[in-house]
Amino acid sequence: MPEGDTIFRTARSMGRALAGKPVTVFRSTYPLLTRFNDDTPIAGQLVERVEARGKWLLIRFSGGGTLVTHMLMSGSWHIYRHGERWQQPRTNMRIVIENSDFVTVGFRVPVAEMHTAQSLLRDRRIPNPEMDVLSSTFNAEEAMRRVAAHGNEEIADVLLHQEVLAGVGNVFKSEICFVMGINPFCRVSALTLEQVRAAIAAAQRLVGANVLVDSGDTIVTYGGRQRRTTHESDPSESLWVYGRKGEPCRKCGDLIRRRIQGPDARVTFWCQRCQPMPDGSDVDG
Ligand SMILES: [Zn+2]
Repeated sequence: MPEGDTIFRTARSMGRALAGKPVTVFRSTYPLLTRFNDDTPIAGQLVERVEARGKWLLIRFSGGGTLVTHMLMSGSWHIYRHGERWQQPRTNMRIVIENSDFVTVGFRVPVAEMHTAQSLLRDRRIPNPEMDVLSSTFNAEEAMRRVAAHGNEEIADVLLHQEVLAGVGNVFKSEICFVMGINPFCRVSALTLEQVRAAIAAAQRLVGANVLVDSGDTIVTYGGRQRRTTHESDPSESLWVYGRKGEPCRKCGDLIRRRIQGPDARVTFWCQRCQPMPDGSDVDG
């Protein structure tokens, strides 16, 4: 599943291609979108803005509608010049938005809904900008309150809750805990307020560093090695712990551990020596 930084970059690229320009063609294989477009044609409207909210991508049209998409595991948006060959088969096409310069195609986008400003506010699945670690209006104090409300849960699981902190995905979860020296299996209630505050700041910093204009698609949290030069290089080379089970910790040399965690059975990586439990207990990898 794409992490928040990936959606952020997609939104930025889509915004460059679409924002401020009139739509010339809108079509979709989804009946609800087609019906909306029949009643209120998108063609002729301007794209006002494309924005990321956590893992959701929002395309705002001047007629008041907002197309809300979520990629889940399979979906992606591509941007093509007119006449350029698509990199996926036509049968994967779900949504097309064209203007005079570009053709943007949503391939296998599993969630696509048209919202009004009101229905967007009411929809609890879509995070407010204040919850998004990449948003300029992110509110860290409110985020601390939301994290603290999950005192009985393990911190790495809580970092993944999109209604607590939007934009943190499974890779960043492990990386944030390592950078802060927090054991991912530690309950939130066993952390100090300062630790929670620092973890939230680390989330902003690490996810934010991966949406810089020249950052590639590979997540980078560990800058100790040479700058990545090829796209084929192992993604785990640019990370502290994620994907590094059995390899030496970059700080202490202990072997990195891996374990399935939480109700959604997501994989977690950590270093037991650098990230001890507060009570000194061992967590098996
Ligand atoms: Zn270590």
